[in-house]
Amino acid sequence: MKYFAGIDIGSTAIKISIADENKELVGHKISASGSMFYKYAHETLDALLNELGLTKEDIVYTVATGYGRKIFKEADENISEITANAIGARAAAREHGQIKTIINIGGQDSKAISLDDDGGVVNFAMNDRCAAGTGKFLDACAMNLEIGVEELGIKHFDSTGTPLSINSTCAVFAESEIIGLLGNEHSVEDIVCGVHYSIAKRIVKLVKRVGVKEGIYFDGGPALNAGLVNAIENELSKKIFIPQYPQITTSYGAAIIGIDSYHYENRL
Ligand code: ADP
Repeated sequence: MKYFAGIDIGSTAIKISIADENKELVGHKISASGSMFYKYAHETLDALLNELGLTKEDIVYTVATGYGRKIFKEADENISEITANAIGARAAAREHGQIKTIINIGGQDSKAISLDDDGGVVNFAMNDRCAAGTGKFLDACAMNLEIGVEELGIKHFDSTGTPLSINSTCAVFAESEIIGLLGNEHSVEDIVCGVHYSIAKRIVKLVKRVGVKEGIYFDGGPALNAGLVNAIENELSKKIFIPQYPQITTSYGAAIIGIDSYHYENRL
């Protein structure tokens, strides 16, 4: 069996997926990007291959994607994360149904991608200018509230009453607003819920720029946060599909692109 690696070097996390010739995901690994993308990407790949009982020789084609993709010089190809995300989303949701709209929230940006009936990208909108509406904002809020990001989803559902409104449009001012709300004896749960709705409102604006088409898929690390998912569904008034491993769609898509490129290059 031949294997294909997709390496997504994101601003916050390195995600690596290994697919087999049948485009099945055989394994994945996630590690923090830290300050040494190149070194950590190699260490993550080595650890994943070790876990899967594979060697570098088993990997016949590697595609790098994401913010730091050009750093991974050993890749056979590098590709934009929009294309890799679209291909990966389609594959990850193949048993669910057709995907027409992707919402991706990463560490430092958020995107909305519109797909055609064949899964091709027709349009996308991106926010990479402002931290509000990104994973970093969630990380900063969790830190101010002295909880972990993985606890945000649970706190959200323990909130009572109308979600608090966080009015600041800038992440730095929003952090001050959160500290002010704590000072006014609002509960952590109500603040978390307010933060999720403030992000959801921004995301809905972004999605509306590309058009809201049924078959909505949400990925990136913040899609692990069930509270944020709930807020976006309520703001959109639509159900959204979350894949089993929301953080690795783009790396999985990169691995799949590698399969097609390998076959094309070798005339298979
Ligand atoms: P990037 O591709 O830009 O590196 P990711 O898609 O990996 O970003 O998302 C990183 C963000 O995901 C983090 O900033 C954090 O807010 C969020 N995140 C990561 N793990 C979890 C988790 N277990 N629960 C909730 N949020 C998470």
